[in-house]
Amino acid sequence: MYIDTHCHINSEELRLKARTVITRARDAGVCRMLVVGCNFEDSCEALAMSEDFSQFGIYASIGIHPHEAKNYGAVPSEFAQLVNNPKVVAVGEIGLDYHYDNSPREDQKRMFEAQLEFAREHDMPVILHIRDAMPEAMSILKHYADLKLLFHCYSGGLEWLDRVLSMDAMCAFGGAVTWNGKASEELREVVRRIPISNMLVETDSPYMSPVPYRGKLNEPANVKYVYEAIARERGMLMHDLEVKIDSNAERFFEWSMSNV
Ligand SMILES: [Zn+2]
Ligand SMILES: [Zn+2]
Repeated sequence: MYIDTHCHINSEELRLKARTVITRARDAGVCRMLVVGCNFEDSCEALAMSEDFSQFGIYASIGIHPHEAKNYGAVPSEFAQLVNNPKVVAVGEIGLDYHYDNSPREDQKRMFEAQLEFAREHDMPVILHIRDAMPEAMSILKHYADLKLLFHCYSGGLEWLDRVLSMDAMCAFGGAVTWNGKASEELREVVRRIPISNMLVETDSPYMSPVPYRGKLNEPANVKYVYEAIARERGMLMHDLEVKIDSNAERFFEWSMSNV
């Protein structure tokens, strides 16, 4: 059974066909999916989906993506309410994106720190989106080493891996591990070296489609191609990898507690 720890079924691309996409994932053996929030509206949508499709193992996270930071003066006050819902298992995705710079960097930092404080206050794990900003992110995160941290779509390369592991953070890997090219070569090196207990798997649907669906709309059913690539790199049996990822995800999100 597979787990997709990061998907945007709440996105414009997938929202209207959520039922089909979720059913297809279930039929492909995906037993849990985490629908990730990027702004206030789609955090609410993620939560609504986790409730509507709860029998399919759908969970939600709430957060303001660095791209959206400029639109917010503070953490939405409604989040304090939403975070108490048992289906909300993390704060995210939050962080810094200096690749696109869709929000001014000062706004990104302000919202990143505010949401880290929020996560600490509510004792929630954090899903991080860090792109081309590892030095800046790390200088903020060193003050939050007490939190459970997950680097989604980890892109810090070997250079940052030791620092990340010294915080006992998790790294999630997606379609990029199946791609050609130098960056993906290095990513596979990270996949071979990272302790298995620090590893998670994701799709980031509808983005980041793995081979053989590169260039097409991604969806959680495709997570098996990521598992296959990781199993190959690690020389592991698929079953053993599935069991390990399942227990890592449970330890991090504690989602079986969300079902009571
Ligand atoms: Zn992201
Ligand atoms: Zn995402």
